[in-house]
Amino acid sequence: MKYQKVRDSIVNYSKQMYQDKLVSATSGNISVRVNNTSDIFAITPSSENYMTLTADRIVIMKTSGEIVYCPENGRPSSEWKMHAKIFERRSDVQAIVHTHSPYATSFAVLREYIPVILIEMIPWLGGSIPVAEYAPAGSSELGDKTVEALGKRNGCILANHGVVAVASDINLAYVRASYIEDAGKIYHLSRTVGTPIILN
Ligand SMILES: [Zn+2]
Repeated sequence: MKYQKVRDSIVNYSKQMYQDKLVSATSGNISVRVNNTSDIFAITPSSENYMTLTADRIVIMKTSGEIVYCPENGRPSSEWKMHAKIFERRSDVQAIVHTHSPYATSFAVLREYIPVILIEMIPWLGGSIPVAEYAPAGSSELGDKTVEALGKRNGCILANHGVVAVASDINLAYVRASYIEDAGKIYHLSRTVGTPIILN
């Protein structure tokens, strides 16, 4: 199978994302460029159970939307346009992890950014987590809003939707998605008992 390594890594992190409760049911999605400079990327399929997902179900496509490989009865994640826009606009990004993790998403619902409240946010996330303006799921407008909020950053939250983490490899993108949820959780909890101290 072509691009086996990339497909296997997407399958493994998809299962991890589900087990770590960063997504529910079939929500969220992961994509990886097939090589460092390519406009071709591999992406999780739409609406398939993560725990039974296999490498042959991973869709290969171009940022233009052209399908390179699609399994029988399969289709790419409905949010592929957002992934394509990020790959087009950020040549440094090789992998994208999109979750609907609950604590970070609670701030996306409030449309409030997550400030720097933990020391690990500085080395791992590069600072605070901004909110991308609202756009319907699956729209190319969502891609534009996400790219705009990200700028050169490593992650953002999407208004009333979820979390996006980007990196030079899938492992780091996954770690960032996890740290965004961790920051969201601790910020949420600290606000329930007092006034959090924000780091500069
Ligand atoms: Zn989503």
